[in-house]
Amino acid sequence: MKPKLKPYCRHVMSLGDGVIRFKMERASLEIPDPEGTVHSFVRLLDGTRTIVELSQETGLTLGDTEDAVALFDRYRLLEAESTEPPGLTERELVRYKNNLTYFSLHESLMNSRYDCQVKLKNAKVAVVGLGGGSIIAAWLAAMGVGTIVGVDCDRVELNNLNRQFFYTEKDVGEYKTVALKRRLEELNGDIRVEAVQLKVDSASSLLQAISGADFVVGAIDTPPLLGSRYVNSACLHLNIPAYYVSIGNKLGFYYRVDPIESGCTDCRLLHIMRSEPELLETTKRKWNRAEPDADFGNPGFAPNVAVITSLIASEIAKRLTGYGEPFPMPFGLIDFQGMSVSHRNIPKADNCPTCGRERPPEGPEPVPMEMLFALAESGVPAG
Ligand SMILES: [Zn+2]
Repeated sequence: MKPKLKPYCRHVMSLGDGVIRFKMERASLEIPDPEGTVHSFVRLLDGTRTIVELSQETGLTLGDTEDAVALFDRYRLLEAESTEPPGLTERELVRYKNNLTYFSLHESLMNSRYDCQVKLKNAKVAVVGLGGGSIIAAWLAAMGVGTIVGVDCDRVELNNLNRQFFYTEKDVGEYKTVALKRRLEELNGDIRVEAVQLKVDSASSLLQAISGADFVVGAIDTPPLLGSRYVNSACLHLNIPAYYVSIGNKLGFYYRVDPIESGCTDCRLLHIMRSEPELLETTKRKWNRAEPDADFGNPGFAPNVAVITSLIASEIAKRLTGYGEPFPMPFGLIDFQGMSVSHRNIPKADNCPTCGRERPPEGPEPVPMEMLFALAESGVPAG
């Protein structure tokens, strides 16, 4: 290993008052350097010296040299050796040049910018629902996710194009799966796109399509209430983390479900219905009406769709590559007017029939809505 200071770090480095400083976006580092020893050490970090050679040239002990290198690496000041990157073609090195620059800020001696890109290349993400989901699929294709699975049963309609802007007027009338596969492959010929023409009418119906995915995106609004519950149950059955998205007029939200760790879609529904009796009644009415937002239509608006879908794609990228931390809490609420994002937890319901103690021992199907209503009515109101 031959540590090298990242080139940009020389620009953010300053000296003065016996202190050497690195002022960066992520963090600042200040090291006392009254005799210029640290500065001399930094000058030797040009990728031509091993740690032993650094120790010999600076006169520091080997242990002190290792500690200094570890400190610099912890602050992401060092880049890995620029040896031949594994797993990427010459063409991919050109295509993802800016990704690599982006990843380079986070790169460490053990996780290079190339490693991040290779992790994307080796990843598989399934997108269920290719309305707003088509935009998420486009972000994923552009960043280089190696395999994208698109699931839908609908055709592209003219009134989709105000927000589902990855489709074109030529695609109107065509199945979304077919149109999206063609468009994604036009965007990025180095990835694999699987089009799954499927009407999601149960959790079981999804299992084959999402099997083997690293993440699933549930961007499905039909059947009302049930669509995302089917995705949720199928993902929990296969132990796959998932993201869900919904957009309203002023607000949009997304949330992630990590199997075992976090509350699931049904936990969330139980929590909502228990928090206020009125919400339980509203949900019941919506269910009994069994019409997809018939009173309000779909308020999807292109800029809002772009904001919320890019947040999900960014989260998935962070988790696939290790670049940065995902949002600390799983539920994100976006105010499109004020353009603010707030996060909160999704409490895990003890008696959730899908991920909790009362989970059925076998089978992926969610319990009927009526049972969820009964559980909501019997449960302790959420605080
Ligand atoms: Zn649950």
